[in-house]
Amino acid sequence: MHAELFEYIDTHRDRYLSELFLLLRQPSISATGEGMRECAEMLARDMQTVGLDTRILPTAGHPVVFGDTLNREAPFTLLIYGHYDVQPPEPLDKWHSPPFEPEIRDGRMYGRGTADNKGQFFTHLKAIQAVREVLGGLPIRVKLLIEGEEEVGSVHLSACARTHRELLHADLALGVDGNIHASGRPEIALGMKGMLYAELAARGPRTDLHCGKDPLVVNPAWRLIWALATLRGSDQRILIDGFYDRVVPPSREDLALLASVPVDMQDLFETFGVDAFLGGATGTEALQRLVFEPTCSIDGLVSGYTGAGMKTIIPATATAKLCLRLVPEQTSAEIFAALRRHLDRRGFQDIQLTSIGTFEPSRSVVEPRLMDKILRAVASVYGRDPLVFPLFSTGGSGPDFVFTRDLAMPSVWIPCAQFKNKNVHAPNENLTVEGFLNGIKTTAALIVGFAERGASPAGPGDLPHRGASSGVRADG
Ligand SMILES: [Zn+2]
Repeated sequence: MHAELFEYIDTHRDRYLSELFLLLRQPSISATGEGMRECAEMLARDMQTVGLDTRILPTAGHPVVFGDTLNREAPFTLLIYGHYDVQPPEPLDKWHSPPFEPEIRDGRMYGRGTADNKGQFFTHLKAIQAVREVLGGLPIRVKLLIEGEEEVGSVHLSACARTHRELLHADLALGVDGNIHASGRPEIALGMKGMLYAELAARGPRTDLHCGKDPLVVNPAWRLIWALATLRGSDQRILIDGFYDRVVPPSREDLALLASVPVDMQDLFETFGVDAFLGGATGTEALQRLVFEPTCSIDGLVSGYTGAGMKTIIPATATAKLCLRLVPEQTSAEIFAALRRHLDRRGFQDIQLTSIGTFEPSRSVVEPRLMDKILRAVASVYGRDPLVFPLFSTGGSGPDFVFTRDLAMPSVWIPCAQFKNKNVHAPNENLTVEGFLNGIKTTAALIVGFAERGASPAGPGDLPHRGASSGVRADG
């Protein structure tokens, strides 16, 4: 079955690419709003073309485009997530070909959105079409949720999901944004860290002041540094009161999953641009810390004069950007409150604290029978057994909690793009043509696989929802 389907997909390569290129030529920059409405409408037409009942769901920001194959009698419903917005293309002079005029060079298509994420989610549309054309129908029901604000923090996705719970209901959510491991094996992730991105600001004199006044006037740079220094010890331990209270340590199964991942230290050092890891961590220990440890990172620190020569001032302000990566069962609201309390208790009531963006941590427990189908479908495309990560292998965050928390369904993230040099968020973003075709094959294999023997004997929509043990650990 797969062989026939895969061959069909390969023979339609050129048609799929030229259709994708139409979408890539349409700018859709959520940060500025350029082309967003036009792209949403174009995508809605693309979805209708492959037979999806399509709706543009308004949000307080850029709309969500939703499609549904509407075959309600199917034994299984899959909800697939993607995003049609892209990062701004600047700096334009660094592109070898214009960002919105996609072209193929050496087996890679170059253009803004090729990898992140148009070239990835478009694979689902083509997979639905290919399965229909080869099998004469769809064995499962598929819903597509393509948002327009991922690159600006998915600000309205959670509210949209809660408004449309019934519409979005499914047995499993699938995100296509995973990696291919350095060993060549595809990575499957069952969750993500959350995030609290905050700004700390200290104020001094109303304007920069001659620093001879130092004995009498508060210096905001010192205030900020003293405040920041209370947040973390030189042993890396995060000292925010109560920070670790809700952290759930990795289970024995989680640790076993990571222990089976081959670790190439040289490759990791090269990828990170360092010669060693903190505390001398290596091998599985390094991987465990990357995947499971919550973080507190100073991402930016600005104050005073930093130009050439000297300028003798007490700065008027000092600001820091702080990124805290959260793990199950921490929540961004609780950690924000804990941070505020921590500062207040130490006399830093004067430090302003503002939340700039949040993601909640998430974690799915997928029923073994369902997991087995996912592993087999992905392996059938890549010819290699996938590696399974309890949380994203990159240490990154995303809107996975919208599925696990807001929609109360398990979710998995699978790869489509190649691992290295895809220049996501940078000039010359690209996706290999092979990666694109593999993406179509993966979704097609999943659609067929979910319907294979062992589809829910209990009837429609019942497979992964048999009580708390089978589904999701709520992430609060
Ligand atoms: Zn992105």
